[in-house]
Amino acid sequence: MTNQITVNEYDILNKAVAEYIKNGQITLKCPRCGDNLIYESFGSVEIIHCANPTCIKSVRRGI
Ligand SMILES: [Zn+2]
Repeated sequence: MTNQITVNEYDILNKAVAEYIKNGQITLKCPRCGDNLIYESFGSVEIIHCANPTCIKSVRRGI
């Protein structure tokens, strides 16, 4: 398993986060496997990840 995210994948994850913030749901699919993308936030930490636990995941720290 590689957790390296390409620029293109990162771009799609960013769009998914923006979509979630705007609409409260994500219609974009994982750029790697086509599964659903899931957004979670814990305090100032945001996580956008694939529904497949072995697939991509991006953790961001908010302000
Ligand atoms: Zn995936």
